[in-house]
Amino acid sequence: MRILVTGGAGYIGSHTARALLENGHKVWVLDNLSRGHKEAVQRTVGLDRLTIASLHDTDRLVQILTLQEIELVIHLAAFSLVGESQKQPEMYFRNNVGGSQSLISAMHQANVKKLIVSSTTAVYGTPSQMPITESFERAPVNQYGQTKLEMELSLEHAASQNDLAVVALRYFNAAGAHPNGDLGEDHDPETHLIPITLQVALGQREHLTIFGNDYATPDGTCVRDYVHVCDLAAAHICAMDVLRNGTVQYFNIGTGAGTSVSEVLDACRKVSGHPIPSVDGIRRSGDPDILYADNSKAVSELNWSPKYTSIEQIVETAWRWHSDSPNGYRSG
Ligand code: UDP
Repeated sequence: MRILVTGGAGYIGSHTARALLENGHKVWVLDNLSRGHKEAVQRTVGLDRLTIASLHDTDRLVQILTLQEIELVIHLAAFSLVGESQKQPEMYFRNNVGGSQSLISAMHQANVKKLIVSSTTAVYGTPSQMPITESFERAPVNQYGQTKLEMELSLEHAASQNDLAVVALRYFNAAGAHPNGDLGEDHDPETHLIPITLQVALGQREHLTIFGNDYATPDGTCVRDYVHVCDLAAAHICAMDVLRNGTVQYFNIGTGAGTSVSEVLDACRKVSGHPIPSVDGIRRSGDPDILYADNSKAVSELNWSPKYTSIEQIVETAWRWHSDSPNGYRSG
């Protein structure tokens, strides 16, 4: 299939682009490179398949969709940091909601009917029950989650109006790196737990600050569902088989298991062989105690299942990437 990946220069986008190529698809990337990396595109689809453009440039989107005869769009371009979204909500709404609406309009004009998009566990807010199923109420507690909810609502409208076929994958915590060691997580500034912890092992930080040790969890630290980025990428391939016109289908993409911050730290210590000092800090605003997925809908309907089922396996791939490329894509 001829596929356009928006945000294909990013962390999840680059792994998804590679998975698509490995499955025999023809892939183009659209990215404004505000957060993504040209090098990541070079290592996947190649720079001749990269368009550097804004999602807000609807005419340009129509042009690419038409010129390359795109049949399916995988829309991953978005801002995704909770803390940043709280400080700069307008920027988040403009990019995540406005950008998606521009893309929907361009697809309508170019008569492209198939769309797979990234959504997030943040749309559920702080559910009182675990694990989270897709039928839980959407009640985001931060601006990032709110923007993704607005995007989902826009898609529901577009699907019914334009006969669009949409799958929205609600990612849990993307983690790890490509086992080849040449694609991985490279954010500036870095805010995610595993890269930060491994940066301590590399001597780039003095310690890990654990954001709260008094949560209602077995060891007092927050529990999340860490899902390997290659497993996330594979979910997009599976989603292609279930697209149905006029509908938006939602799937949780997580392992179904929760891992605490302390358990992640232990795994990083074991894998890196470094003591990785930590200090107990205050809670980070907006962090729920526990979040993990019920992934049974993805398992049964998408025929998807995670290959990386232990946190150590996930951390091993992240460690290979961070130790081989301590400065991310700038390491060369
Ligand atoms: N976390 C932490 N110290 C850090 C970064 C993250 O204790 O320096 C915790 C954070 O509070 C959360 C978990 O690690 O409970 C995962 O956070 P991350 O930012 O990686 O992902 P999020 O769940 O926010 O998408």
